Amino acid sequence: MKTFAHFNASTLDEAVSLLSRYGRRASIIAGGTDLLGKMKDEILSTYPEALINIKTIPGMEYVREEDQVLKIGALTRLEHIANHPIVKGRYLALAEAAGKTASPHIREMGTISGNIVQDIRCWYYRSPNNRFPCLRKGGGRCYAIDGDNRYHSIFGGSVDGGCYAVHPSDTAPALIALGALIRTTKRTLQAEDFFQVGVTKTTVLDDDEIVTEIQIPEPPNHSRSAFIKFALRKTIDFSIVNCASLILYSGDRVQTARICLNAVYVKPYRALMAEEVITGENLNEEIAEAAGSAAISQAKPLQHNGYMAQIAKTMVKRSLLACRD
Ligand SMILES: Cc1cc2nc3c(=O)[nH]c(=O)nc-3n(C[C@H](O)[C@H](O)[C@H](O)COP(=O)(O)OP(=O)(O)OC[C@H]3O[C@@H](n4cnc5c(N)ncnc54)[C@H](O)[C@@H]3O)c2cc1C
Ligand code: SF4
Repeated sequence: MKTFAHFNASTLDEAVSLLSRYGRRASIIAGGTDLLGKMKDEILSTYPEALINIKTIPGMEYVREEDQVLKIGALTRLEHIANHPIVKGRYLALAEAAGKTASPHIREMGTISGNIVQDIRCWYYRSPNNRFPCLRKGGGRCYAIDGDNRYHSIFGGSVDGGCYAVHPSDTAPALIALGALIRTTKRTLQAEDFFQVGVTKTTVLDDDEIVTEIQIPEPPNHSRSAFIKFALRKTIDFSIVNCASLILYSGDRVQTARICLNAVYVKPYRALMAEEVITGENLNEEIAEAAGSAAISQAKPLQHNGYMAQIAKTMVKRSLLACRD
C-alpha cells in the first residue's frame, strides 16, 4: 500500500469538513472490507491522500423502531442487522440479505452504509495495478464488452452506454423492496434514487456527503417480504443474481408488490413488469412463474451471460413464493 493520512473523526461535522478540504482525494472508511482491498491492489490510477475514519464518531451504530419507522445507524454492522429480532420479525428481506452477505467475519466488520456505497466488482476494473484503465475509470473503452462478461449486466450498460458492471450489493435490493429512505448529511433520498453510475462512483452522493441513517417504514399488516440469493458458494461469494420482494395482501389477493433484482444491471433493477403481473392475483406457482418471465422480458444478455436471465427468472419466482401468506 502507498502512504496516506489517517483521521479519526469525532463528529460528523469534522468528517464533512475534512471531506470538503480533500474532495475526491479523500475517502471515508467504515468497516474497510471493500475500500482496503481496492487500495491494496491499487486498482485505480488515483490513490486516496487521506482516509477519514467515521467509526470513531459515537452513536452511529443502532437499530430501533420509532413511530412505525425502523431506524438503522449507518455504521451498524451487517451481522447485527441479520440477527436483530425486530429486523428478523417485520423486515425479513433485510435480515436475510444482511445474513447472506459475504462471510461471518466480513459481516462483523462490514457496515450497512459501506454495503450500499461499495464499488463494483468487474474483474477488469478490479485488476491490480490499474491494468485495465476502462471507461468506468475515465478511460476510453470497456474491456468486458468483447471480453469475459459472464457476470455482467443482462439489461444493458451505462456511462455513455459502455459500462456493464453490475451493482453487487445484497442489502440494496432489500432496502428498495422495503421502500427505505437513506438519510445523509445533506438530504433524505428514496433508496431507489440513491444509486447512480459514474466514473469510480456507484451512488448520487456528493464528494463531501456521508450516509447517516437508513429508515424503513413498518410494512403494513398482511404483508410479507423475502430475499433470495444465488451465488456459486453458500458463503463469501457475491451474488450472481439476487432478488428481494415485498407483497401486501388484500384477502388472498396481491394488493401491491415491490420486487427488486440486483447483480443483473448497473444499478439495482426494479422488476416493474413482474409487479404488474401479480397485482390483483392469487399468488400461486403459475403466477410466480409468469412474474419471473415478465421480469426478464427486457433482458438483452451479452455473449457469455445469457444464463443469468434464467437465474433471474427463478430468483423472482422463488422470492415471490417465499412471500406467500
Ligand atoms: C471477500 C468479500 C466478499 C464479499 N461478499 C459480499 C457479498 O456477498 N455481498 C455484498 O453485498 N457485499 C460483499 N462484499 C462487499 C463489502 O465489503 C461488504 O458488503 C461490506 O458491507 C462493506 O462495508 P464496509 O463498512 O466494510 O465498507 P468500507 O470498505 O469501509 O467502505 C466501502 C465504500 O463505502 C464508502 N462509505 C462507507 N460508509 C459510508 C458512509 N457512511 N457514507 C458515505 N460513504 C461511505 C467508503 O468510502 C467506500 O467507498 C464482500 C467483500 C469481500 C472482501
Ligand atoms: S464493465 Fe465497466 S468496469 Fe468493467 S471493464 Fe467495462 S467499463 Fe470497466
